[in-house]
Amino acid sequence: MKKFLKLIALVLTIAMAACCFAACSKDKSNETENNAEAPEADNVLTVATNAEFPPFEYIENGEVVGADVDLANAIAEKLGMELEITNIDFDAALTGAATGKYDVAIAGITANDDRKKNMNFSEDYYKASQAIIVMADSEIAAAADLKGKTIACQEGTTGEQYLLDNKYEIMSFKTGAEAVSALTSGKVQAVVIDNAVAKALSEKQEGKTVVLDEALTEEAYAIALELGNDELTQKINGALKELKDSGELAKIFESYELPYDAE
Ligand code: GLN
Repeated sequence: MKKFLKLIALVLTIAMAACCFAACSKDKSNETENNAEAPEADNVLTVATNAEFPPFEYIENGEVVGADVDLANAIAEKLGMELEITNIDFDAALTGAATGKYDVAIAGITANDDRKKNMNFSEDYYKASQAIIVMADSEIAAAADLKGKTIACQEGTTGEQYLLDNKYEIMSFKTGAEAVSALTSGKVQAVVIDNAVAKALSEKQEGKTVVLDEALTEEAYAIALELGNDELTQKINGALKELKDSGELAKIFESYELPYDAE
């Protein structure tokens, strides 16, 4: 009987030792896995955007897609980095890039002097302007007719800034789509928003609205980065230049029917 107990004790000891060994070696293998992942984390380009800006960024089948997303992919590929896109509010995307929470923000962002005080910008990649959307039967035919009207716009954008600078009465919305809803429901008489987006949003109204043929501003989109992150800014500029020179950038815009004239 004693012998039998001894045998059980021995078997248990061996079993425990085996478990311990397995656990230890598992830990080790985890460690190496983690170590292998660590450099990869540096190799991810984190991109903030606001997928409410068709055709630059919007949601399709639950995914963030659009010309800016294709551009982000092409840049990440050139830099040999993986892409991680986060869809957040437009102002959060701007501050997220400015503070370095995200490597970059790509969201049809106009590079203007005000913003340049708080963040780095890449070279420009697309020329844009502010445009006016009105109801198809509206009496507003040009910017001159906007006086005394209430105009909807998107919060925190250059369109909103233009309207404030020109002392219009405005209603600001989180998204351009909501601004257009305010127009079609009669709450406002016009919407001011970036030209290509005005066209995309107006087309969804199937003839109820039109975009006036008048550019209110001259702007250019660029990629926003943390103020002072010159190293990544230069890398992004290098990738952008390659994409411009090879015609890849033009192709991206073409595929979204976005007019593009390379400088
Ligand atoms: N281009 C405009 C801006 O930078 C609008 C951008 C946007 O709404 N995504 O303010």
